[in-house]
Amino acid sequence: MDYRPASQDAQFILFEVLDASGQLLPLKGLAEADPDLQRQVLEEAAKFVAEVVAPLNAAGDHLGCRFEAGAVTTPPGFAQAYKSFWEAGWPALSCRPEHGGQGLLWVLEGVLYEWLSAANHGWTMAPGLLHGAYECLARSGSDELKAAYLDKIASGEWLATMCLSEAHAGSDLGLVRTRATPQPDGSFHVSGSKIFISGGEHDLTDNIVHLVLARLPDAPPGPKGLSLLLVPKVLADGRRNEVYCDRIEEKMGLHGSPTCAMRFDDAAGWLVGEPGRGLNAMFVMMNAARLHVALQGIGLLDAAWQKADAYARERRQMRAPGSRDAPPDLIVQHPAIRRILDTQRSWVDGGRVLAYQTGLELDIAKHHPEDSRRVQAQRWCELVTPVLKAAFTEQAFHGASECLQVFGGHGYIREWGIEQVVRDSRVTMIYEGTNEIQAIDLLVRKVLPDGGRGMSALLEDLERGLDKSNAPAAEMLASCARLRSLTSKLVGVAEAHVELPFWVAGDYLRAVALVLLGWAWTRIGDAANAQDARWQEPGDAFRHWIFPEFKMRLEMIDKQLTLKTPQ
Ligand SMILES: Cc1cc2nc3c(=O)[nH]c(=O)nc-3n(C[C@H](O)[C@H](O)[C@H](O)COP(=O)(O)OP(=O)(O)OC[C@H]3O[C@@H](n4cnc5c(N)ncnc54)[C@H](O)[C@@H]3O)c2cc1C
Repeated sequence: MDYRPASQDAQFILFEVLDASGQLLPLKGLAEADPDLQRQVLEEAAKFVAEVVAPLNAAGDHLGCRFEAGAVTTPPGFAQAYKSFWEAGWPALSCRPEHGGQGLLWVLEGVLYEWLSAANHGWTMAPGLLHGAYECLARSGSDELKAAYLDKIASGEWLATMCLSEAHAGSDLGLVRTRATPQPDGSFHVSGSKIFISGGEHDLTDNIVHLVLARLPDAPPGPKGLSLLLVPKVLADGRRNEVYCDRIEEKMGLHGSPTCAMRFDDAAGWLVGEPGRGLNAMFVMMNAARLHVALQGIGLLDAAWQKADAYARERRQMRAPGSRDAPPDLIVQHPAIRRILDTQRSWVDGGRVLAYQTGLELDIAKHHPEDSRRVQAQRWCELVTPVLKAAFTEQAFHGASECLQVFGGHGYIREWGIEQVVRDSRVTMIYEGTNEIQAIDLLVRKVLPDGGRGMSALLEDLERGLDKSNAPAAEMLASCARLRSLTSKLVGVAEAHVELPFWVAGDYLRAVALVLLGWAWTRIGDAANAQDARWQEPGDAFRHWIFPEFKMRLEMIDKQLTLKTPQ
């Protein structure tokens, strides 16, 4: 069974739950203000994903990419599907009109990528970095680089990569050794080896634009010595640049995406942004990329849920408790299976509310006329993005494994495609900053340094508009208060007990994720018809089987506080 995007659900969340049109009203002058156009785009995107990309998924996994004499061949149908993708203008959805883009909302692109990842994670890795590369170049590139590359990247005619990792430098990019040597004409010669580069080589586009982290001569050691260079596979005069793919990795999943070991042998490159500010230029790319990965998690979990839900409505085993039908009953009637399905549904729907809101905040942070609203949006993006990346990728893998359980032994064999989702989703917990790094980013780099003020303001944003007389909203308010008090406790002891925040960062991120999800479900509850089982059952699942973890996480953190900060 191929993935089918539920466009109506996405539209309900965007327009009814989040009132995207109302939120974006002050952002005058943007084409995206027209809700009819947005709905139309989503309908067309759903059609493209279902008809063109989803049918290639299983074969892409079975056949994978091939490597021969430095060239990479993607699975059958991938190149044609990519050609249709860029020719239809999908990569340029939210790029600016002056670069050939359509100037639409970022969140529409977010929804598109959620669906693409759900339908075919391997294929989607190829265009997944395009928008980040576009933003990075648009902000930091010189006029010459923009003139030569920006339109091609915006349209997707040329694909882009992000070349950060080296064999000895993963989470710690300060260890990067690739070197860039200045040349008299203002260009650089880039030399070094990168590993794990998604789409480093392929047959999807004529040119590939590599964005490479490298060290200039005399650069200080560590992250501050890193610069960003643009290194094309094919030079402007048509010659092949000195950049080679030495192998592609054999992986647990994601077989449709070539993960390449790349070698740069005095390759011609050009500086993007200022020397020594490479990480800053790259972080523009990484924040949106992290939200993309959160959306991959949400999409993959939805794909797993769709398969499991369909199977549970066909497979019959034993009598379900209380059933009056002739046995055997459908397994979807068994509470154990219902619980698995409703729990994953709850993560997907709540995750969409949060990820789409973050997508809206990205545009608000850029375009809102009021300073204070832009600051608020920026705070939301900074604090919520690492939470979504870690929480929804973790749930994608564990939730997909739960969905596999719905199939019993049939889930463990290839035929049903659910084991592919489990394998493919695992990497989302690792790349784009591992989930451990996301937790440290949240607590140690963002929450503690300002004494918890940013987190407290975020909690106020969530509390605003909650009606105390409604039970779920009252529970949310109480949870926000507990999180605020826990945050101040951590702020109070962090300086004297430097190790403590690192021990509890994962639990803290998880507690924040559960509060955010609680907020999402109060929003869905406000917008949905209380009698509609479509929203009622996953809403109940949130309260019964997901949210109780919040109390457990707080207790785990309290335990560490007691153990590690003896009075
Ligand atoms: C399929 C795939 C595609 C990828 N695509 C790209 C790409 O396109 N471009 C690119 O540049 N890279 C890419 N990567 C690399 C990826 O970003 C790295 O694997 C990731 O950043 C982790 O680095 P590492 O593997 O070296 O692990 P390490 O950094 O060695 O980490 C090992 C373990 O230690 C933990 N750890 C490390 N430091 C800390 C710390 N300070 N505190 C707590 N825990 C810590 C990590 O969380 C992890 O659990 C890809 C990887 C894969 C598998």
